[in-house]
Amino acid sequence: MTANTRRDTEAALREQIVALGRSMFERGLTAGSSGNLSVRLDDGWLLTPTNSSLGRLDPQRLSRLDAAGTLISGDPPSKESFLHLAVYRHRPSAHAIVHLHSTHSAAVSCLKELNPDDCIPPLTAYFVMKIGRLPLVPYYRPGAPALADVVGRLAAKHPAILLANHGPVVAGTTLEAAVNAAEELEETARIFLLLKDMTARPLDDSQIAELKSVFKLDI
Ligand code: ZN
Repeated sequence: MTANTRRDTEAALREQIVALGRSMFERGLTAGSSGNLSVRLDDGWLLTPTNSSLGRLDPQRLSRLDAAGTLISGDPPSKESFLHLAVYRHRPSAHAIVHLHSTHSAAVSCLKELNPDDCIPPLTAYFVMKIGRLPLVPYYRPGAPALADVVGRLAAKHPAILLANHGPVVAGTTLEAAVNAAEELEETARIFLLLKDMTARPLDDSQIAELKSVFKLDI
């Protein structure tokens, strides 16, 4: 890739972070200054700045970090940058990450009796295809160093994880894929809560096996 192509690609990715951030903000997926988006580059990554609203991002002021997570240019990064760094380090296929405090996923993350290996049952085929199994990361205070270790370990095996009493972290091969998966997760969390007092009929093992085989899923 030439230096010019690299600059054009980075400029397009900056615009995409702004556009998708605004889209999610306008549809109520991130409130206030919560949530953060990042995209991996050849020589580091871009992240939304600390205390910024995803609805009002400036492409020129996004935090540009090197591969070790040190700020190179732009505004100071989100305080949750260590979550992104942990996922990029342990999941080579991750080229973008969406972290939200979206209402329904966050509500599920506060439920007492969750299966920590799989927080939301396989209610729909699209949830199985985009998220697969969703593990729960135990509660840690914001910024706790141990959180990065657990997130990294689980992210190596899962495209999405749910932080207890907090919200989801979703990785994708592109920013669009990560956003779509985060939205699928939020909608399935909403369905899960709607069905809480009813007898749901999740997909069974043979239906999941069929999806795995037809769509070559690694879940
Ligand atoms: Zn958070």
